[in-house]
Amino acid sequence: MMDCVFCKIINKEIPAKIAYEDDQVIAFHDINPQAPIHLLIIPKKHIASIMEIDEENGGLLKEIVRVAQNLAKENNIDKKGFRLVVNTGEEGGQTVQHLHFHLLGGRFLTWPPG
Ligand code: 5GP
Ligand code: ZN
Repeated sequence: MMDCVFCKIINKEIPAKIAYEDDQVIAFHDINPQAPIHLLIIPKKHIASIMEIDEENGGLLKEIVRVAQNLAKENNIDKKGFRLVVNTGEEGGQTVQHLHFHLLGGRFLTWPPG
C-alpha cells in the first residue's frame, strides 16, 4: 500500500535491519527500541490491524507465531521470557496502520504497561 512505512520496508524502498524474511512474513528491528531486543514481525500483505484478521487470512497468525518462537530462540529469550504485543487502534497505541507484532525481551518487563 502506498504511504505505508512498513510496506515500504517490505518493498526495500526504505532500509531496515531485517532479522527474518520469507514469502509471507518479515521481521526487522524497531527503529526506536524499548528493550534490548525489540523486533517487529509483520505480514507482507497489508493488513491494517488485528481487527482485519478473518477466516481467510487467519493462517498468517500461525506463521507469525512460528517466526516469533524462532526469533525468541535465536535471541536466547525463549526460556528467560519475552512479550509479544499487538497495539491496536488509537487508545491501544497503534501508530503504524499495518499489523505488527512487537517481540520485546532482554530485560524485565513491567506490568501493567503504561
Ligand atoms: P505501534 O506504536 O504502532 O505499536 O508500533 C510502531 C512501531 O514501529 C514503533 O515501535 C516505531 O518505533 C516503529 N517504527 C516506525 N517507523 C519505523 C521505521 O521506519 N523503521 C523501523 N524499523 N521501525 C519503525
Ligand atoms: Zn502496509
